[in-house]
Amino acid sequence: MVHSRSQGGRKLRVAGIRTAWRVVGDGEFYCPGCGGDRCYQQLAGRRRLAVLGVPLLSRGAADPVAECASCRDHFPVAALAQPTTVRLAALLRDAVHAIALALLAAGGDESGPALETAVDTVRGAGFPDCSEDQLLTLLAALKAGGPAEPEQELRACLTPLAPHLAGPGRENLLLEGARIALTNGHYSDAERDMLSVIGGSLGLAPEETDRLLTAAMPT
Ligand SMILES: [Zn+2]
Repeated sequence: MVHSRSQGGRKLRVAGIRTAWRVVGDGEFYCPGCGGDRCYQQLAGRRRLAVLGVPLLSRGAADPVAECASCRDHFPVAALAQPTTVRLAALLRDAVHAIALALLAAGGDESGPALETAVDTVRGAGFPDCSEDQLLTLLAALKAGGPAEPEQELRACLTPLAPHLAGPGRENLLLEGARIALTNGHYSDAERDMLSVIGGSLGLAPEETDRLLTAAMPT
């Protein structure tokens, strides 16, 4: 605002920068303002110097924003990188599934109690229809991809999820894997290695992973 004068008791803005927004996209995001999954419109803006409400001189492009359809607040488009709670729940479910398969692949014990624990874990994570046959079929497909396949699948699933989880969320995922490995009371070397990969993919420090795995062991 350059200056203003009083008119009829109200301040009238004589000159100021106005931004004209246009919609360039839309979708759903997690609104950091009103705290939930909301619709948004992505807006691109042109700023103009307006005199007495009439836009005159261009002042260039405004930073694009996402406007929440609910609270109408504007946020930097970086806010769109945060997954919605629905998407986050799906990523978590898939992560537990990948962890269960990886631990079964590392355990080599495909018919024993570890399989039951894995099925329970996957069901509890949000796949209520998961069955032993289903896990075994997926496990065979995973192993057919080569010895490195389970680990690669795991990293592909966990690495993008990790930045969106707080510490306890990461620890819980690691412990889901530890429970499957510990069905028979101890970690095999291969299970321990796989759990280290899980900890690393989740961004846990190696000593933190070791501490959590040791604490999870039966006393
Ligand atoms: Zn909002």
